[in-house]
Amino acid sequence: SIYGDYLKSVIRTVRDWPEPGINFRDITPVLQNSAAFRKLIDSFVHRYQEMEIDAVAAIDARGFIIGAPVAYELNCSFVPIRKKGKLPFQTISETYRLEYGEATVELHADAFREGDRIVVMDDLIATGGSMLAATNLIERSGGRVIETAAIIDLPEIGGSDRIRREGHSVFAVCE
Ligand code: IMP
Repeated sequence: SIYGDYLKSVIRTVRDWPEPGINFRDITPVLQNSAAFRKLIDSFVHRYQEMEIDAVAAIDARGFIIGAPVAYELNCSFVPIRKKGKLPFQTISETYRLEYGEATVELHADAFREGDRIVVMDDLIATGGSMLAATNLIERSGGRVIETAAIIDLPEIGGSDRIRREGHSVFAVCE
């Protein structure tokens, strides 16, 4: 994407966090820098503004930071996909495997209408497990996943390829 190299230079890598051997990609320097944050949001808005998107669905919690301003600019709905136990109304849920243990995400049962055109957003794609749990929820609720979108893809881990093998398009601002 046009601002990909610039935004990559602003993202911080924190070595050995949250545990030894993990290099955590930290987007908070982008959020602190108003010019960088605007370029980040504009990257998504520019990509989706002509695609007749009905809703941005974003994954708890860093997905919310980017999903809400993108939905606002696209004049479309914003739908949170949340960690288990946070949504008050009737929900549908998906449980997926993590490296250690499992995680469950939930979606309000009335979040979408049949055929709604949806972009799913999160900060980062690693194994793709979070994104695929989200796309499963959306399809179960009758929505159409137009694209999955992230700030960062880690292609060597293979998540984006896995998402593509499941039939979804993947957009990442940088790798
Ligand atoms: P996946 O489900 O394995 O693709 O992992 C992606 C999820 O883990 C996203 O919701 C990310 O927020 C989180 N995540 C994993 N690694 C990082 C990282 O280095 N920086 C920020 N978030 C990460």
